[in-house]
Amino acid sequence: MLPPVLQAPGPDYLRSLRAAAAHRVPPPLCDSHTHLDQFDDATLEGMLARAADAGVVMIVSVGTTLESSRRAVELAERHALVYAGVGLHPQDIKGPVGDAEMVVLRRLALSSAKVVCVSETGLDFQAASPDRRWQEESLRRHVRLARELGKAVDFHAREAYEDILPVLREERIGEVGAIWHYFQGDARHAAEAIGLGCYISLAKPLLRETALQEAVREIPLERMVLETDSYPQLFKKNAARRTEPAHVAQVAEKVAEIKGVAFAEVAEATTANLRRALRMG
Ligand SMILES: [Zn+2]
Repeated sequence: MLPPVLQAPGPDYLRSLRAAAAHRVPPPLCDSHTHLDQFDDATLEGMLARAADAGVVMIVSVGTTLESSRRAVELAERHALVYAGVGLHPQDIKGPVGDAEMVVLRRLALSSAKVVCVSETGLDFQAASPDRRWQEESLRRHVRLARELGKAVDFHAREAYEDILPVLREERIGEVGAIWHYFQGDARHAAEAIGLGCYISLAKPLLRETALQEAVREIPLERMVLETDSYPQLFKKNAARRTEPAHVAQVAEKVAEIKGVAFAEVAEATTANLRRALRMG
């Protein structure tokens, strides 16, 4: 007879392994940027459950207009996993941002302890985007609001990587705290932004874009956060391919592969980084 350690595992042993696996707590993950207010309630419930199963402990849902900022705050009040950002997206501004709009954003930010950043703001210099001066002035006003509130700015930059850095520098963004959302720049852009005090947020383009993978090799893990930028991708016929917060685990896996570290290390570091970036202690 074989000694016990060499015998085939019995049913009790297999059952206890399965039980341990079922109770395994996945490492904590955070999704630093989403638009959850754009989903209907039923879709949202399913997504939040899948996110929690994947180990997601925090999802930041940011506003793009006054109305969507209000809904983001409402969602944050309703769901433990959800935190909110309030702001006006550079593509959603219709003219120079006025005092009245900033007063509403300020009131919304102060209305809930779960508002953790001023977002979404930034510069979007595609050909059909709103006037660049309106966008820049709006970004500056958002940074100043964040400074006054003691909250971070989570910002968007599209076709404006060279233009946004001087604005951030002039506004002394390091004193305010900031996250560069959906980063797709090169290592130099990342290094400059980190030098100004920003964190770099990586999303699913990292899974396929080799230039971004190269940049990530140079970005220190302690300055990275992760996101999905989830919004309803109804144009994707196959619902299983629509991005949702649980997919932040795929981004973490890719970072782990590029950096040659364990998934759990990326999950834990990026969770700690987001809390630090948002000054959550
Ligand atoms: Zn966004």
